[in-house]
This record gives sequence, structure tokens and C-alpha cells, in this order.
Amino acid sequence: MSQSRVCVTCGTQYPSGTAPELCKICEDDRQYVPVTGQSWTSQDVLRRKHAVRVNRLHEKFYEMEIVPRFAIGQRAFLVMSEGGNVLWDCIPLLDEPTIEFIKSRGGLSAIGFSHPHYYSNMNDWAEAFDCPIYIHRADEQWIVDRGKHVRLWDGDEEALWDGMRIINIGGHFPGSSVLHAPSLSQEGTMFCGDTMNLSPSMKHLAIMYSYPNLMPLPVHEVARVGKRLEAIPFDAVYGFYSYQNLTDNARDVLRESLNRYRE
Ligand SMILES: [Zn+2]
Ligand SMILES: [Zn+2]
Repeated sequence: MSQSRVCVTCGTQYPSGTAPELCKICEDDRQYVPVTGQSWTSQDVLRRKHAVRVNRLHEKFYEMEIVPRFAIGQRAFLVMSEGGNVLWDCIPLLDEPTIEFIKSRGGLSAIGFSHPHYYSNMNDWAEAFDCPIYIHRADEQWIVDRGKHVRLWDGDEEALWDGMRIINIGGHFPGSSVLHAPSLSQEGTMFCGDTMNLSPSMKHLAIMYSYPNLMPLPVHEVARVGKRLEAIPFDAVYGFYSYQNLTDNARDVLRESLNRYRE
């Protein structure tokens, strides 16, 4: 683990001896290699300089993020359920306190992903909790560390348990997906990763090909993505930054946001 290299810009961890000159995830036009050039760090350095902050957002789920912020600065969610807990998306630091905390809440039965920007050091997490990693097959090419826990899934959705589903939406990546948990709010809660990006005004959900590079999707693709989202019952949306908690009227915000493409 200590020999692996972690991209400083996106947090993707490459196994020992396999890191390319430039990070494959960052070279893609949805991310970026900084003008100052590619740089790498390691899990050991991350553990020395950063910690994982765990914050309870709901009786049944926690957010976890790296402090001080590292790479993209996303959060992961620990969603607790009777049939088994799910880690939705990943953060590139796994330390002992975090492992102990998750174990105290019942461990993990699955790791699910919205898309490749958050694969991080997913195999370390899967090994620590001996659980499968669900990744949509459409994004297979972006897995830089295949590991033995990766379980590719196909089609529109993958049913987990207790009514939870991973639903493929597309847009940002062909395999972009959301986790839908029906019992966490009145109409259902959606953990969306980068499939939608809630603006700081909390009144707009952007659906884009690239968020850091501000690259749009074709209008017909936004319409298709919107149709997929409209078919899912939900009233709460949790995005990838810690402020992105839309706990009610999420469907109205989505509808108004999609209308901007039609007007
Ligand atoms: Zn990278
Ligand atoms: Zn992304």
C-alpha cells in the first residue's frame, strides 16, 4: 500500500509500479493536469498530513471528507441500512480511526460509485471491509486498479437491499450513476456524486460533461438525463461537496434547472 502513488489533483491511487507519467483520469478532458505539472503523493504522506472528518447528517447516514482538503475535496457517504451498510463514493485517505468508526457502525456490505473521479484508493477500502465495489461497466476503462473486489454491473440499475438501488443516469460519464434510498426521506433520497452539481445558491442543479472545465453536454443529452432523473421518486439530493444538501423540494429545483435548456 505504501508504495502506491496518489495523484495530487484528483486523488486516484495507482498500484505500486503502475503510475503513468500523467494521471489518466486527469489527462481526460473532464479533469485537468495543472499548468504546474503532474504531482504525486502517497497514502503514508496523506495519513501524516490529513485526517478524515466524519459528520452525521441524518439518523441513517454520515458524510466523510478529508481535512485539510485534498485533491477534488469530495465527500463519501456511509449509508446505514439493516441489510448492510453502503459506502457511496470514496475519498483517497483510509486510516485506522476511520476503519474503527465504520466497524463500530456495522462495517460495509458494498461500495458504490457515481463515477470515476471518486475511485480513489477504493481497493484499500474494499479490502479493509471485505466487500464488493459496484462500478458500471460503461466506465470500466477508467479503473486503474482492478483489484479482486470490483464487480461490474450492466443496464439501467442494480438493486442492492432494503429498496436501495444504484441507477445509471449517464451525462458526465456514460456510467454516471446515483444511489437511491427510498426510506431516508418522504419520497426518496438521491446521492448523486457529479451527476448533478448543486450551485451555492442551492437553487440550481447543473448537469455537465465537465465541471472543472465548464464544458456543457449537448442539449439532447441533458434532456435524456433529465428524463431519467424525472422517472425516479425523490425529494432530497446530496451532492459531492459538503454544502450540497438539498433536503426538500429537490425535484422542483431540478425541474426549474432543466427548464433553462428549453427556454
Ligand atoms: Zn489525477
Ligand atoms: Zn466528476
